[in-house]
Amino acid sequence: MKVRKSRTFFVLGIDAFAFGLFCAFFVYKICVLVRFFYMEFDLPHIRENVPLKNFTTWKIGGSARFFIEAKSAEVPKILSWANSKGIKTHILGAGSNVLIKDSGVDGLVVRLKDDVSSVKISEETVSAGAGVRLAQFVDCLAKNGVSGFEFLAGIPGTIGGSVFMNAGVGGSDRREISDVFIGAQLCSRKGERFWVGPDFMEFSHRKSALQSSENVLIFASFKIEKKSCPDEILKKTRENIEARLKREPKNRRNAGSVFKACGGVPAGFLIDKAGLKGCRIGDAQISGVHANWIENLGCATSSDVEALINLAKEKVFEKFGARLEEEVRFLG
Ligand SMILES: Cc1cc2nc3c(=O)[nH]c(=O)nc-3n(C[C@H](O)[C@H](O)[C@H](O)COP(=O)(O)OP(=O)(O)OC[C@H]3O[C@@H](n4cnc5c(N)ncnc54)[C@H](O)[C@@H]3O)c2cc1C
Repeated sequence: MKVRKSRTFFVLGIDAFAFGLFCAFFVYKICVLVRFFYMEFDLPHIRENVPLKNFTTWKIGGSARFFIEAKSAEVPKILSWANSKGIKTHILGAGSNVLIKDSGVDGLVVRLKDDVSSVKISEETVSAGAGVRLAQFVDCLAKNGVSGFEFLAGIPGTIGGSVFMNAGVGGSDRREISDVFIGAQLCSRKGERFWVGPDFMEFSHRKSALQSSENVLIFASFKIEKKSCPDEILKKTRENIEARLKREPKNRRNAGSVFKACGGVPAGFLIDKAGLKGCRIGDAQISGVHANWIENLGCATSSDVEALINLAKEKVFEKFGARLEEEVRFLG
């Protein structure tokens, strides 16, 4: 009798435990579902099959399977959502350094919106969201009497794209974004945020550690070296832009320099000496003004540009034994 009673208690205990487990699992599933729907409704509008060419300076490229325009602060939840659905994400800033494939981009393209209100200036530092356009950034700093960032004037990128590329200018006034960089908030593809300093970035010529990682830059901060009178800074900024406009090709459908300098020698010099200035494939042409630039004459495709890139690499190697490395990034 005693044995039967204890066995009944034992069976009841197991049942209660199993029921408890079932309830916990059920509650967990409900939580996952609620979180999923909450995230879905909380996301910016997702569009499908969106042509990307107008979001690039080259005006070239196919469509994104999924497309979102978002402020940098919204990026973590987008990445987390896409990760939970197994969708690959790609980040687009101002599209001034990318060649998008004619076949488009599978997955989700997140285009970062300009958001100058994210620029915060303190006594010694300035921080900005990844989507802030450099033109807005430089202008905002100038108006607040912060100098030292004029070298960025005229580079048509965003804060995020420029840290990713370690953008800057060469020549006697050589300066790169790494010269003023202090730190950044990054976000993993799972949506986890973390802060990093300059060591993490391993900056070199047009290179940062972001290029070999999946992390997305959300905010970056920079050191303020000098303060001066806003009018003087604005004047210097305008002079930089005018000087650029004078030396750059008039056709604005390009992505700036296609190749990095090769062992300190400007790639444009090598391409020019290889006899390729003005060379045309389809509607893409190596600029007659600046041989490191490839211009879209109107209806160029990504394949036309790629064919010119390969031709330049081949001819420069044949003539000088030098291997050109692309500065532009490929998407798709
Ligand atoms: C007319 C012209 C002149 C130029 N002059 C210069 C110059 O003087 N110096 C110079 O350095 N460059 C120059 N460039 C190239 C270009 O403007 C820079 O490389 C710029 O920094 C790219 O920024 P973006 O926002 O356009 O990046 P995009 O072209 O949108 O993206 C470039 C790469 O960065 C990645 N990326 C963008 N944002 C993020 C982010 N938040 N987190 C992680 N990855 C990100 C993208 O996925 C992509 O791989 C020029 C381009 C043009 C068209």
